[in-house]
Amino acid sequence: EDRPVDGAKRVLLAAPRGYCAGVDRAVIAVEKALERYGSPVYVRKQIVHNIHVVTELEKKGAIFVDQVNEVPEGSHVVFSAHGVAPSVVQEASARQLHAIDATCPLVTKVHREAVRFARDDYEILLIGHDGHEEVEGTAGHAPDRVTIVNSPEEADTVQVKDPSKVVWLSQTTLSVDETMETVDRLRARFPELHNPPSDDICYATQNRQVAIKKVAREADLVIVVGSANSSNSVRLVEVAREYGAKAAYRVDYADEVRQEWLDGVRTVGVTSGASVPEVLVREVLDALSEAGYADVEEVRTAEEDLMFSLPKELRQDADGKR
Ligand code: SF4
Repeated sequence: EDRPVDGAKRVLLAAPRGYCAGVDRAVIAVEKALERYGSPVYVRKQIVHNIHVVTELEKKGAIFVDQVNEVPEGSHVVFSAHGVAPSVVQEASARQLHAIDATCPLVTKVHREAVRFARDDYEILLIGHDGHEEVEGTAGHAPDRVTIVNSPEEADTVQVKDPSKVVWLSQTTLSVDETMETVDRLRARFPELHNPPSDDICYATQNRQVAIKKVAREADLVIVVGSANSSNSVRLVEVAREYGAKAAYRVDYADEVRQEWLDGVRTVGVTSGASVPEVLVREVLDALSEAGYADVEEVRTAEEDLMFSLPKELRQDADGKR
């Protein structure tokens, strides 16, 4: 093994990291919409939760808004990867907007589960962070049926009408371990709690957590590249701390890496959230290299090759041809 000699500084670079299939598709959707329709193209909410991505798309002519009613009638609007409630789709259509839906197909899957369980008369305990756009979108698919469970602690107090007809669903970007703890605590109170048909926490979230767990065991410090409002990035910081990293920090950009974080540190783990372009990771690696951490070893725990086709509104050419 060509491990560095004892005491040498090194970087363990987690893989998989960075862009997932849903983010890649959503970013390309905005770029394609700009190419096809010209600027401005409106985007409801941040297309993905990364400040760099949003800034770059703004430079290309995208305008980010919070609500559909800020979009001029007749314009093109892209819905973000986090998904929207049906009420948002209706509002866009009432304003004669040309909507392009970049909701990640793995979020749409959870929407469908919510609709189906609501129709089958279930009460839905949606594990996720109140106020996060994805949670609002999913809850909006079954507004009278969903109760949000924010944490394992809330599982101990949440009330349901009929404990024999309850199902749990979740946000796609949570900590796997913490979600399972929440489910266990819910099941202790509601033994008949129904499971979703398949994992709601998506493959990308799971894979990035598995990789950083392996890295964190050997790292003195873990740096996660990702934005503060990126759920999966923030979870990576927490998971790194739980799995043995002595310290773990999140940065948007390389210049946020502080010299004092590196005091006495031999091994630095590096990863990035699912909305983070690789160029930002490269810049962090460059900064670490300058600080003496030039030796980089990739620690890969899974291969990913999933790709999603573009939103259907963009699959045809403007003249109707493929
Ligand atoms: Fe889709 Fe998962 Fe990526 Fe979110 S993190 S966009 S659910 S693949």
